[in-house]
Amino acid sequence: MKLLMWLLIALWIVWLWRTRSSKNETPAPPPSATAKPVDLEACAYCGLLTSDADKVPGAKARYCCAAHRDLAER
Ligand SMILES: [Zn+2]
Repeated sequence: MKLLMWLLIALWIVWLWRTRSSKNETPAPPPSATAKPVDLEACAYCGLLTSDADKVPGAKARYCCAAHRDLAER
């Protein structure tokens, strides 16, 4: 019975050591130099976040689509 207890303790120590060392081996992803943060802006009508390429400028604010611009500014 004592042998079984020591075997379990040894297995527990090995398991602890392996989980700790595997955590240390995982490197943090390097920040990409080419990645640019995408500028997201909320639609003034529905709050949907849209990028610079997708947004529709209105007279008062910016919108996610022409329909929301028309609804908000009519
Ligand atoms: Zn919208």
